[in-house]
Amino acid sequence: MGRSETAAMKAAWHALAGVLPESRLLASVAEFTHHRDIDALDHSMVLSLAELVAVNSVTLCKCGEDPSHPVDSIVVCSRKPGPEGGFVVEAVDPDRDGDAIDTIVCALETSEAISDVTEHGVNRLVIPIQREHAAIGALMLEAEEPLDEVRSMVEGFARIYGNYIALLNESERDKLTGLYNRRSFEQRLQRLLKLHRQRSRPAPGRAEQRHAPETQAQLFLAILDIDHFKRINDTYGHVYGDEVILMLAQQMRASFRQGDVLFRFGGEEFVILLAAPDESAARAVLDRFRQLVAEHAFPQVDHVTVSIGYARISENDYPEIVLDRADKALYFAKQNGRNSVHGYEALSARGELAPVALGSIDLF
Ligand code: GH3
Ligand code: MG
Ligand code: MG
Repeated sequence: MGRSETAAMKAAWHALAGVLPESRLLASVAEFTHHRDIDALDHSMVLSLAELVAVNSVTLCKCGEDPSHPVDSIVVCSRKPGPEGGFVVEAVDPDRDGDAIDTIVCALETSEAISDVTEHGVNRLVIPIQREHAAIGALMLEAEEPLDEVRSMVEGFARIYGNYIALLNESERDKLTGLYNRRSFEQRLQRLLKLHRQRSRPAPGRAEQRHAPETQAQLFLAILDIDHFKRINDTYGHVYGDEVILMLAQQMRASFRQGDVLFRFGGEEFVILLAAPDESAARAVLDRFRQLVAEHAFPQVDHVTVSIGYARISENDYPEIVLDRADKALYFAKQNGRNSVHGYEALSARGELAPVALGSIDLF
C-alpha cells in the first residue's frame, strides 16, 4: 500500500470517527422521540443519554403544576453494579430527600446550570429543561470524570426534550379551552392515582412538610354538563355558545385547586378529577362551583346553569365504570330539575339508581 493510499485511508478513518458519534447521537434522539407516551419517553431519554456518555447515572426531574411540590416526577438511569455492566431505569419518589435533589431544586429555581463535585468526589452536571423562559425540569448527570466536554450535548438533549414534551402536552389539550382533552383522560387518571398513592403513603424525610395525607384521602370523578345548551346556541348562535364554554373553563381553572385535573370531554361536557377528605367535602366543592356559575352573568346570554354527577374513584376501579357511575348521577340531575349536584354512591344507597354491570358500557 503506497503512502498516499495510507494517508487517504487515515483521512477516511478520521472522517468516519467524526461521523460516528453524530450518527449515534442522531440514533439516540430518534430512539427516544419515537415514543408518544410521556413515561416511556422519559425512560428512553435517560437511557439514551446514559449509553452515550460515560456516567454513573442520569436523572430526569420534572416539575408539576402544584407549586407546593416543586418536583413532580423523577426517573433515574444508573449503572448496574458488577462486571456485566448495563443500566437500570427506575422511577423514584419525587418527595425523597437528598443532596442531589436539593441541587436539582436549586437549578430549577434559578433556571441556571450547575456543575460541581460532590463531597464523595463525583462530578455532577445539572442542566435545566426550559419552556417559555421557565424551567419545567432538569437533567442531572453524575460521573467519575469531569463532564465539561459533554455539557453542550446534554444541553441539546434538554432542548430537544423540552420541545418534544411541549408537542406531546399540546396534543393532550383541548384547543378552545386549553383544558385536557378526552384522549388524555386514562393516562392522567393513572398518573393521579399513582401520585395519590405516593402522597397517601407515609414516607421518611419530607413527609411531614406535605399537606397531611389523611385530609385528602379520597379521589372523586365529576362530570359537569351545561343545562339547555342547545337553547343557548339556538338563541344566540354558536359564537356565544363557544364563549360560554370558554368562560366556564376559565371559572373552573380559577375555582378548582391546582392538584385537581380538569378536562373538556366534548361539546359542553367537562370532567373533573378531585381529591377531598370525604364524600360530603367533594359534594360541597362541586356545589359551590355550581352556585358560582348560576350566579354569574355571562355576556349577552346572562344566566347559565350546570348539572353535576360524581362518583368516588377507588384504586382498582376501571375508569369506564367510574365514568358511567358519574354519568348516571348526572342523568339523575338532568331528570330532576337540573342546576344540581348528585353523587352516585348516595343515590344508589337510597335505591334511586340501577347498579352498573360490567360489559353494559359503551363510553369509548
Ligand atoms: P341538557 O340540559 O339536557 O344537557 O340539554 P342540552 O341542550 O345542553 O344538551 P344536548 O346534549 O342535547 O345539547 C348539547 C348541544 O351542544 C348540542 C350541540 O349543538 C352543542 N355543542 C356541542 N359542541 C359544541 C361546541 O363546541 N360549541 C357550541 N357552541 N356548541 C356545541
Ligand atoms: Mg347539556
Ligand atoms: Mg351534553
